Amino acid sequence: MTGPNARANSLVNSQDRALRERAAAVIPNGMYGHESVRLLPPEFPQFFARGQGAHLWDADGNCYLDLMCGYGPNLLGYGHPKIDAAAAAQQRLGDAMTGPSPVMVELAEAFVALVAHADWAMFCKNGTDATTMAMMTARAHTTKRKIIVAKGAYHGAAPWCTPVPTGTLPDDRAHSITCLYNDVESLEAAAAAAGDDLAGIFASPFKHDAFVDQQLPNIAYAKRAREICDETGALLIVDDVRAGFRLARDCSWSSVGVKPDLSCWGKSIANGYPISALLGADKARAAAGLIYVTGSFWFAAVPMAAALATLREISASEYLERSEQLGLMLRAGLREAATRHGFALRQTGPVQMPLILFEEDADFRIGYAWSAQMVKRGIYVHPWHNMFLCAAMTERDIAEALQAADASFEALKAQRTQLVPHTGLMAMLAARH
Ligand code: PMP
Repeated sequence: MTGPNARANSLVNSQDRALRERAAAVIPNGMYGHESVRLLPPEFPQFFARGQGAHLWDADGNCYLDLMCGYGPNLLGYGHPKIDAAAAAQQRLGDAMTGPSPVMVELAEAFVALVAHADWAMFCKNGTDATTMAMMTARAHTTKRKIIVAKGAYHGAAPWCTPVPTGTLPDDRAHSITCLYNDVESLEAAAAAAGDDLAGIFASPFKHDAFVDQQLPNIAYAKRAREICDETGALLIVDDVRAGFRLARDCSWSSVGVKPDLSCWGKSIANGYPISALLGADKARAAAGLIYVTGSFWFAAVPMAAALATLREISASEYLERSEQLGLMLRAGLREAATRHGFALRQTGPVQMPLILFEEDADFRIGYAWSAQMVKRGIYVHPWHNMFLCAAMTERDIAEALQAADASFEALKAQRTQLVPHTGLMAMLAARH
């Protein structure tokens, strides 16, 4: 398979299998983190040799329409010419130097101009850096300890927020209080439990937890979170690491008319170059200046140049409208195809960040079998994590995905009675918080 239109991948996977064997010898568990395929159907490739636009090629040369977009960084297309050119130009000048490049100031100015609640910006590498800095800033600002987070929401892989507690201590999250997303009463109860010790409230822009239906934010919840922070002096933090710039050319909670004090960004902001950001309002500026946060690569100029070029594309192009339009096409087409084949889907969340689960599939066995069929046909979908559309996708790509979906539902009908749940997934779900 060589071209994006060559479908029905062979799945010989010989290179992929060989790489996995070598990895098992030199990488603990063969792979780790969210890009390990251990919790995916066995048909999924582990290694990708290259990406271009909306497509990926695995180590065996099979091509996929990539509906995961790197779990978020691919906003405008892999290998975007303008962004890569900006990065290459900066690379010729310098990247990780003894001090930051002037591009850092330009980038902070661009963020402050684009994101309404932000008066300042700090840059780091990963989303977890940004959320951890937000937590520290809230504690420094208030000199209080308690942080409210929604149960099941992902804010990163540091000890204070990782969903898998192995290697961490209960003490690491001793000052986290959970509430239920979109549930005003439980938010109020969490605030009451914090008493006069509340440092901050974390909010996902919408509920985008893995394994369960996504939920858009309700305005009452967002407004109450703002009010509680105003009443107590705590900081409101929107974690826009995953959804940032996919719902708005601003903080995602601009859609519900609520401005946070801090927002966390990562993934898409440089279209795949490694950089994340904490943005803040003037209120939190002094505290942000007091915490000690840094890293060897945090001031590297190449990702900053890439981010600046990405922000320019975000402002100047119709990328957002385009991905919404393609998302609508995908959602409607999938609904129609599933119904025709006798399956009921739950497609939730914004159309450009879709999560697709099957009704009557508590142990995900149907979703696993369907996604394996899709991957076999060159469409990379995920059975339990939200997906992403990118602006490099075309109507033809979506039409191909729908064609593959049709054939995958058809194949699934024949398999239906023989499906079994994925044992690794079942074990992981049992071990979670
Ligand atoms: N917050 C959210 C909402 C995320 O989706 C993620 C990553 N999936 C993070 C924080 C952590 O980002 P990173 O993996 O870049 O550390």
